[in-house]
This record gives sequence, structure tokens and C-alpha cells, in this order.
Amino acid sequence: MTNATTHGASPLEQPPLPFARDALAPAISADTIGVHYDKHHKGYFDTLVKLVAGSPLAGQTLEQIIRATTDDPAQVKIFNNAAQAWNHNFYWASLSPKALTPGGALAAAIARDFGDLAAVQAALIKAGTEQFGSGWAWLVADGDTLKVVATHDAGVRFTSGQRPLLTVDVWEHAYYLDVQNRRADYLKAVVEGHLNWDFAAANFAAD
Ligand code: MN
Repeated sequence: MTNATTHGASPLEQPPLPFARDALAPAISADTIGVHYDKHHKGYFDTLVKLVAGSPLAGQTLEQIIRATTDDPAQVKIFNNAAQAWNHNFYWASLSPKALTPGGALAAAIARDFGDLAAVQAALIKAGTEQFGSGWAWLVADGDTLKVVATHDAGVRFTSGQRPLLTVDVWEHAYYLDVQNRRADYLKAVVEGHLNWDFAAANFAAD
């Protein structure tokens, strides 16, 4: 499923979760999805709205706010909440209740840049497992080349000229209720069984 609201002009309102809370179990439990979506993700939007109230940023999109505040120490609270709101929009859209496989131009690019789907899955699991502390593992397009990268904390990639295709949250709140410290188990279950490759293919074809 594609979700156009994650690209370019996202409002300062939390979008609906694109699947039922138990749709990813047992890889991600309904309890984890509930706390993650209803508390963490909603909290970033609620805090952001309060932080920008009465300022020129209040009428801007998430993407505009992120670009306006990135790398500005005076605006780090606004950046963190805006970027986390955006990253979670993108994360939910990156997940699929059922296993999908890449198609079209993305499948050809994976074959060219990684060899096969298993190799890109392994790279995502490795990047997410090795990310020290909180962050995100991403498949991005850098020009037309596919890369797997990680960001720490609220870091995004589109401000660095890379186009995100999909992401996996590796903050502890994404998995700790389910597998405690075993981040690699969460990553393996999600990356091998629940990535929305249709969303990634649509993002790759978008530019
Ligand atoms: Mn999260």
C-alpha cells in the first residue's frame, strides 16, 4: 500500500494506522503496536503542535518544519518531534501484514546493487542491529543507487539528498515488550516477513 501523505506535504495530524493492531503478530504484538502508535507516535504530534503554536511553523507541513529546523541547535526540540512524527508515518507505511516481494524497477535495482532480496534483507538487519542506541534502519535511493543506512535518534535521510524507500524503527519501544533486548530477533521477523515492498517500489518509482 502506498501512502502519499508520507511524502512532501504531511499535515501536523497523525494519520490512521494502515492495518489492525494485531496484524503483525507475532513479529510485533498488538500491545507493542498499541503503545507505539497511541502513545509514542501520537505524543510526537501532540508535542510538536504545542511547540510550534503561534509561530510561522504552525502552518507548515512536517517536511517543511524538518527542513527548517534540521541542524539548528536552537530548534532541536521541534526538529526531534517533527522528524519522529514523520519517521513513524513512514514506518507504519513500510510494514505489511503479509510478506511481499519487490517488483518492477526496484527488483532490478536490488539485483544490480545487492544481488538478491536476501542480501538486502541481511543488510537491513545488520544496520539495525549495529545501530548504537536509538535510531532507524533505512533502504534509500542515493541517485539511482540503492543503499542501506542507519540514522540515530530522530535522524531522517531526505534532508541529506537520499530518498527513503522504507524504514524499520530500532528504538527499544519498537520491540522491548515482545523480545526484550533481542533487537536482532525483532529485525529478522519484521524484515523477512513484514516489509511493504509495494510501498518501497512506489517510492523508488516516484522520482
Ligand atoms: Mn518508534
